[in-house]
Amino acid sequence: MSHDPHCIFCKIVAGQIPSKKVYEDDELLVFHDIHPWAPVHVLLIPKLHITSMADLQPEHAGLMGRMTVLVPRLMKELGVTNGFRTIVNTGSDGGQEVFHLHMHAIGGPRPWLKG
Ligand code: 5GP
Ligand code: ZN
Repeated sequence: MSHDPHCIFCKIVAGQIPSKKVYEDDELLVFHDIHPWAPVHVLLIPKLHITSMADLQPEHAGLMGRMTVLVPRLMKELGVTNGFRTIVNTGSDGGQEVFHLHMHAIGGPRPWLKG
């Protein structure tokens, strides 16, 4: 399934739920987390509905590579100069709450709420 009509992040991709966008291209969307843990907290998602990292296939390698390479560029653009964390929660035991693959990129001066 490339789009899940019940998925909150697919709705954000479709513009049915508003988000504070940071970056967008044909394959990727980046927006601010609604409950940030730190001064900068963005979510990078594929526009394609992939449920979690557990569902990645070899053909997703380029997509995930582009997503990863985008992080340092965006962190710099958002003013993060002293390091950042990237987190991908996978499945229930991995603490995943939204079942559309996403990478958290978190930075800015500490203290942070979590993490
Ligand atoms: P997870 O625990 O699945 O890795 O993280 C899901 C993240 O999505 C959480 O940090 C949560 O704050 C964020 N989130 C959930 N719903 C929305 C939403 O509607 N808009 C935005 N911008 N973030 C959301
Ligand atoms: Zn989705």
